[in-house]
Amino acid sequence: MNSTCTCRESTSYGPGILAAQYLYWSSIRAERTSGDRRFRARHSDFEPGITLGYLGGLLDGDAPVRVDVAAVADDLGRKPEHLVAELGWLADSDRFLHQEGFADGVMRLWLNPAVACDGGTDPRPLAARYRFPYPVLGQGGLSAPEPVRFLEYSAALWEELYTSKQQLFDTRRVPDPACRSCSPTRLHLV
Ligand SMILES: [Zn+2]
Repeated sequence: MNSTCTCRESTSYGPGILAAQYLYWSSIRAERTSGDRRFRARHSDFEPGITLGYLGGLLDGDAPVRVDVAAVADDLGRKPEHLVAELGWLADSDRFLHQEGFADGVMRLWLNPAVACDGGTDPRPLAARYRFPYPVLGQGGLSAPEPVRFLEYSAALWEELYTSKQQLFDTRRVPDPACRSCSPTRLHLV
């Protein structure tokens, strides 16, 4: 790849982002509106969609994401302790990510490829690594009787997903029409 390439690096995002939002919203709504109370947002509320989208942008190939908690919290305009609590919630049962370690303010996280996968990276071994479950969104979004359910890890499911969307997973870069180094093909594929 030419160093003057201005095409954007690609990340493929999966249903995990919306699933985390739905799961969190439905839990806090149920908890706070019991007994006809009006729902009120709190400053400490998690923002799973924003957080997972941000983490997806930090992916580099098949390596774990390295999160400097203070710096990332600052970037996201959150308190570090709220971010740590949220990452812990996201790591519960390895639904959205696996927390590998937390030392000296730095956390190492493995994202479920159903949340996000770096362009040009095979999601199958990543999914197998922690046998991540696969989130399925219910019809009707948040108003569905069961907005999110999880399928247990399955190599066959990931094989099927990879085969049907191989071009999406294999795309390393989103072509920039103005990129001079990629013209005239303007497309990077593995
Ligand atoms: Zn380019």
